[in-house]
Amino acid sequence: MTLTKTAMMKDTALVVVDMLYDFIDGSLACQGADEAVARTLEYIKAHPGLPRIFIMDHHPANHSSFAAQGGPWPPHCVQGTRGGEIHESLAPYADDEGLIFYKGEDPAVEQYSGFEGRNEAGQSMAEVLRLMEISRVIVCGIATEYCVRNTSEDLLKDGFKVTVLKDCLAWVDPEGHRQALLEMEKEGIRLS
Ligand SMILES: [Zn+2]
Repeated sequence: MTLTKTAMMKDTALVVVDMLYDFIDGSLACQGADEAVARTLEYIKAHPGLPRIFIMDHHPANHSSFAAQGGPWPPHCVQGTRGGEIHESLAPYADDEGLIFYKGEDPAVEQYSGFEGRNEAGQSMAEVLRLMEISRVIVCGIATEYCVRNTSEDLLKDGFKVTVLKDCLAWVDPEGHRQALLEMEKEGIRLS
């Protein structure tokens, strides 16, 4: 059976993970980021009725994941800086505050997964997806082997059907990217 675009969209949402300047051209610029952003924009334009969820890494300046605090990463996605903003080509599509989820706000806690994020009203993504009667998510974003993987796996564990758009990803390490995709597929995440 072939689902029409409209039927597909009724129970489906797009989840855009961390397409933020520090992961694109900033302190943690990832490989493939420009292409991933361009293809995500194409996908959004091709599916105008699809609800769009945006995940944003959103750290205080003293976050524990930063090197100065003993963490593994350079400072990135600090609240109120350009590095933490959604790429300008995608930002106009992040037009519903209820569908933007912020993570990494607690200085002491690392959160790779958008599943742990909260919107301005304090709701989790899973809570909002269920209110919208969404059962299937299409995930893209940066970086494959960290935030995309963790977000996708948490959604899958919580019962959502998960598809990852493999042309709309960017990565820290090419081998890590390939390995993550293989493992995610084995776990039951669809690649498209
Ligand atoms: Zn971070």
